[in-house]
Amino acid sequence: MIIVMRSGATREDVDEVSKHLHELGFQTRPIFGVTKTIVGAVGAPDVDKFGAAEQLRAYETVEEVHLVGKPYKLVAREAHPEGSIVRVGGIPIGGPGVVMMAGPCTIETEEQVFATAESVSRAGALILRGGAYKPSTSPYSFQGLGVPGLEMLRAAADRYGMKVVTEVMDPRKVDLVGQYADMLQIGTRNMQNYDLLKEVGLARIPVLLKRGMSAKLEEWLLAAEYIAAAGNEQIVLCERGIRSYDSFARNTLDLAVVPAAKAASHLPVVVDPSQGTGRRNLVTPMSLAAIAAGADGLIIEVHPNPDHAIKDGAQTLRTDQFEALVPQAKQVALAIGREILAPDPVR
Ligand code: PEP
Ligand code: MN
Repeated sequence: MIIVMRSGATREDVDEVSKHLHELGFQTRPIFGVTKTIVGAVGAPDVDKFGAAEQLRAYETVEEVHLVGKPYKLVAREAHPEGSIVRVGGIPIGGPGVVMMAGPCTIETEEQVFATAESVSRAGALILRGGAYKPSTSPYSFQGLGVPGLEMLRAAADRYGMKVVTEVMDPRKVDLVGQYADMLQIGTRNMQNYDLLKEVGLARIPVLLKRGMSAKLEEWLLAAEYIAAAGNEQIVLCERGIRSYDSFARNTLDLAVVPAAKAASHLPVVVDPSQGTGRRNLVTPMSLAAIAAGADGLIIEVHPNPDHAIKDGAQTLRTDQFEALVPQAKQVALAIGREILAPDPVR
């Protein structure tokens, strides 16, 4: 930590701050400048730096406190410099293969989910997505089918040899949803629901952690750290667009965060171009761009008849559009020395 004292701080003021730091377990190295003094604090690896910085900022004689190290440890790239692979029912996310996940925004009917699964699996998707518990901005909007929806999703995935990713919103339902899912999705609105993060941290299945729509990279990685600290390091990060000022798209898909997150963390990173753009015509180009940016997978909304979808129809690809996307995705993956992961009968 680096503590910058205010101009005019006396030697006594510096001593007082240093004493506080010593009591916390730090060693201090003051540097006295002509107008300003800075204090370097080192040697306390296990102290909560966030908390210490907050205390020091309360001193009127302190101008600024800078944290030098990263506030997250378990998910930091340094913890696994080679990068980690998260296996979703045996499917590796984070290896050389780019994993395609597809399915409707929300599970509506058996017919809808089976038709979607049949088509997207034939096209090359390995993981079926679909919400049975839907976070809705309005309490009057459709909230999802709940358990019957989970049953349909699981049955459709099993029928076509796919795995399941689906959202859990309630810490009390983590076990229930976990009985049907191969990966638990934490939605953008819940990225900072710390009780939910701790609960999925106790689960023994992978977690797809969406980026909060106004979360900084560091906040997103600290949310992942919550899950890891609770005991579950099988985490896949998902960029899904952030709030911005322009309304031409629903969100601003931040593709620069893909290489940035991969540099800062060993966790795999996937991209959701559907929530990320909110517009069907933007989904294919941004899917290709996401692969070029180094995404380890894509999660895409697909529906046999998006114009009649209960939710998110405007950003949902028709099944034929998803079929057309996959060969293009293969070309882009090839161009950067990767491949689209194909179904493996022995997996
Ligand atoms: C979704 O995947 O349909 C969804 C609601 O995602 P997000 O939490 O990113 O909005
Ligand atoms: Mn959706």
